[in-house]
Amino acid sequence: MNKQRSEIAHVDLDAYFVAVEQRDFPELQGKPVIVGGSPESRSVVSSCSYEAREKGIHSGMSMKKAHALLPEAIFRRPRFDEYRKTSVEIMKFFCEYAPGVQQMSIDEAFLDFQNTRYLYDDLLVVLKKLQERLLSQFGLSCSIGLAPSHYFAKLASDFDKPYGFVHIEPDTEKSFVNRLSIENIWGLGKQSLKRLSIYEIRTVQDLKKISPQNLSVILGKSYAQYIGAVLEGEPPHSFTRSSIERSTSVEETFPQDLQTGDAVRAGLLSLAQKLSGRLNADHHISSVIVLKVRFKDFSTFTVQKTIFQQHLHTQKIYETAVGLFKKRWKTFDPIRLMGIAAKRLQNESQLVPDMFETNKDTALRKIDKTALDLKNKYGNVSLRPARTFSLYAKDTKKKNISKKTDS
Ligand SMILES: [Mg+2]
Repeated sequence: MNKQRSEIAHVDLDAYFVAVEQRDFPELQGKPVIVGGSPESRSVVSSCSYEAREKGIHSGMSMKKAHALLPEAIFRRPRFDEYRKTSVEIMKFFCEYAPGVQQMSIDEAFLDFQNTRYLYDDLLVVLKKLQERLLSQFGLSCSIGLAPSHYFAKLASDFDKPYGFVHIEPDTEKSFVNRLSIENIWGLGKQSLKRLSIYEIRTVQDLKKISPQNLSVILGKSYAQYIGAVLEGEPPHSFTRSSIERSTSVEETFPQDLQTGDAVRAGLLSLAQKLSGRLNADHHISSVIVLKVRFKDFSTFTVQKTIFQQHLHTQKIYETAVGLFKKRWKTFDPIRLMGIAAKRLQNESQLVPDMFETNKDTALRKIDKTALDLKNKYGNVSLRPARTFSLYAKDTKKKNISKKTDS
């Protein structure tokens, strides 16, 4: 009776941005649709319909390439405000079902059903219902993975997209891994895959044949341990709680590469303002700032800092990001993209009285709040610090913000 059961679900919306477009504009249904910036800009595909995927388009591909490959596709500009609004409603809807909901990004969340046997006899029935209701009430399709751990629930939801439903029973994780292709191992990045392919390691079976020592030589010790655990059907140790904490981020591919300190500061100020606007709008506080920098040659680095002040405003985020940048790079190559993320998000209501906040901080937060109120009152007005104008001065038409992609 008290048999072990899987109680962690991962729910991931299918091609979320495109799905919202197809829902709101039914004429787009069944067609190859690509959401992203202008094909003339340097932005990337944020989301594409399954019809477009069949023709070789994928998230993260440059819009230019997507356009060359599939000129007949329907190209749409993203409507982030709408995606965020719908996402908030969906997260509330998840809370009707699960006692614990951890939002991972705009379109995915972990639903924690641990110790709910008294509530729910059969989680498969409950989750199937959730999947059907999401489709009928929100007009959106999702894929669900149910597994004994977060890590395997995430692998499961990704296994049979779209509208997938994959259940991994306790003690069957190891055999599930045998069915994966190597690209599906969550946490293995493009660089690692590239390095493995040099050694002709392309499948899970290939991975299993190689000794842990040799894998360490190829990928480094921590990655080798990570993969070793996954192959054994264990959630990797480095996949700790912090990996499943909520975060939010903004990033931008700039119209021209940034080459001077002034340009970098202007870029960071613009990002800081967007991030603080989002934190404010979602009533979130955070204590970790992550800076991401991608250079002209596409090499990408992230650095992060924990700060004691949780209630962030534009100036604080900006100063932290500039500090991180200066510490890491004394000189730098042209920069293509930068991003700032706030990690360890919590709701404002969980804020303990902030001992580190000064009167100046309170005033600066008020300025952010005013900007947000104006935006809410007058719609999509664009309030930008004057110092950021130079970023777009040369070519305002090509200005494009590439957001995180979805899948
Ligand atoms: Mg998704």
